[in-house]
Amino acid sequence: MERIGFIGLGIMGKPMATHLLEAAYPLTVLDRSRAPQDELVAAGARPGKSPRHVAGESDVVITMLPDSPDVEQVILAQGGVLEGLRPGSLVIDMSTISPAVARHVAAAAGERGSDALDAPVSGGQVGAQNATLSIMVGGPAAAFERAMPIFERMGKNIVHVGEAGAGQVTKAANQIVVAVTIAAVGEALLLAAKSGVNPAKVREALLGGFAQSKILDVHGNRMLQRNFAPGFKIRLHRKDLAIALDTARQVGMALPATASVAELMNALIARGGADLDHSALVTVLEELAGVQVSQNP
Ligand code: NAD
Repeated sequence: MERIGFIGLGIMGKPMATHLLEAAYPLTVLDRSRAPQDELVAAGARPGKSPRHVAGESDVVITMLPDSPDVEQVILAQGGVLEGLRPGSLVIDMSTISPAVARHVAAAAGERGSDALDAPVSGGQVGAQNATLSIMVGGPAAAFERAMPIFERMGKNIVHVGEAGAGQVTKAANQIVVAVTIAAVGEALLLAAKSGVNPAKVREALLGGFAQSKILDVHGNRMLQRNFAPGFKIRLHRKDLAIALDTARQVGMALPATASVAELMNALIARGGADLDHSALVTVLEELAGVQVSQNP
């Protein structure tokens, strides 16, 4: 069995690494915060001392970190994963980061005789816990085949999209659809509230028709219940829209709906909402509408 190193044991990484341990992969783990690392070591993993040390102990190194600079730090910087890699190793970054950084990581790994995959995920904390994540992968086909048994321990819908960076472009597309749909659901429920029509009934009616979506279901319900505990934090979704907007600039196109929702997220962050669930976007729309979504208007 391949020896796996796992770096970044947060909301997503800890349950994902736990599944690999349960599948009996020899696992070395590292996080800059001690608590999740100690928990996995107590469950049978070996403690990593540094990214370089983790790479030296592993055939496959997986990272699940917040943002592009974190991935650059852990993989490319001094003492990083690349310094510990042996030729023929595989680096899999499952964080959501910029496609440009993913391509840079792939090129740097290639120079050391190793492959890299960008393999961001969708499905949230619940998907990570239940091993039902969607995994969107960029990189060489042979590396994808090699990683498949590992991916299957963490996810269900696993798609090889294309070359290096293609997984991250796919994830940016995913985050556009989610963000713009959250805003649409918020506006729809607020139109109902402002018109004196019960938003809970409107959601119920829409769930049976063409406007039906998981976001109308889950996030619409969160808006009605005013349950804005994360979930997926506004600060992370804003980061993902920045990736989408930067990528659009690089390829020379406009994303007007995405830009507008990103500005609404900026407004929510300015009001101290960075750590709320992304469904809390509706509270900014409520300010503009002068009415709140509630179950009993
Ligand atoms: P998180 O903040 O909970 O976890 C990140 C972990 O990385 C933390 O435990 C942190 O201590 C660790 N870390 C950061 N820098 C490090 C370093 N230099 N060395 C070692 N450890 C380091 O974040 P998360 O929610 O698990 O998200 C991880 C990635 O997955 C992000 O890119 C996010 O956008 C993406 N994602 C998150 C969700 C979600 O619902 N939370 C869903 C899909 C994708």
